[in-house]
Amino acid sequence: MNQRPRFPARLPPSEPADNARGRSAFSNSGTVQTARAQPVRLGVGPVRSRAPLTPAAMQNIPASTGLGLDSSAVRARMVSQLAAQGIQDPLVLQAMGRVERHRFVESALANQAYEDTSLPIGLGQTISKPNVVARMIELLRQGASGRLGRVLEIGTGCGYQAAVLSHVATEVYSIERLRGLHEKAKGHLLPFRLPNVHLIFGDGMQGFPKGAPYAGIISAAGGDDVPASWMAQLAEGGRLVAPTVTASGQQALVVIHKTSQGFERQILEAVHFVPLKSGIA
Ligand code: SAH
Repeated sequence: MNQRPRFPARLPPSEPADNARGRSAFSNSGTVQTARAQPVRLGVGPVRSRAPLTPAAMQNIPASTGLGLDSSAVRARMVSQLAAQGIQDPLVLQAMGRVERHRFVESALANQAYEDTSLPIGLGQTISKPNVVARMIELLRQGASGRLGRVLEIGTGCGYQAAVLSHVATEVYSIERLRGLHEKAKGHLLPFRLPNVHLIFGDGMQGFPKGAPYAGIISAAGGDDVPASWMAQLAEGGRLVAPTVTASGQQALVVIHKTSQGFERQILEAVHFVPLKSGIA
């Protein structure tokens, strides 16, 4: 039996939670410090797992996301929507079903956590909507049957995508340039005890050479071009997925596949990500 509190246990039906009224649970009072040379390892215990989603379980999902539903049921409904939207990779769907997205956003937003919407995470940054997270990870894993090898994520943000990645890759290195968010992600991820997630505070424009070569590199922030360091740190056969400004001047998802012959580049759908910035803050 699931012993966790019902979801979302602490939200009253119509009143926003305390921290919704202009007072953020997040503060960025830290001073700028130099980049951490060593990644933070987040846990030593086994990955906590939930029962796998079965097709039967997915069909019994209530239509309403009203209060009082257990979060696993709401998540299962989100997963069935993702599948209906075209996400096919079973490992990606399973991972999306496992990670409790509501634990990565402020409690005032928890009741929107399983809707297909992006949400603010503090310091002017946002967490992508579930469909975009799933789509990008599916693109990253294209052609892979089991888990991917080492993956580098640029832009840890609140840590949600790193948690999803931890279920589809052997190791996840995730780098964030804003110390406040790096710390926040650490706090979010700690209770999940994910020993294969390594958080780094630093400028992801340089990639993270210590973990290279990577089977996959995924960026949660969009630049004018894909930095050469990322291409260099990609393993042969690896894939890179990044929102990038293309020739049309619009941001689109760019997928780069490194082969023995060189790089194959695909430009996919238009997207709207926060900017990739240099330096730490
Ligand atoms: N994957 C995140 C989404 C975060 S939004 C999540 O699941 O919450 C994108 C993040 O990229 C922001 O936190 C932003 O600060 C970060 N970012 C932008 N440029 C960066 C850079 N050069 N290096 C590291 N992080 C960067």
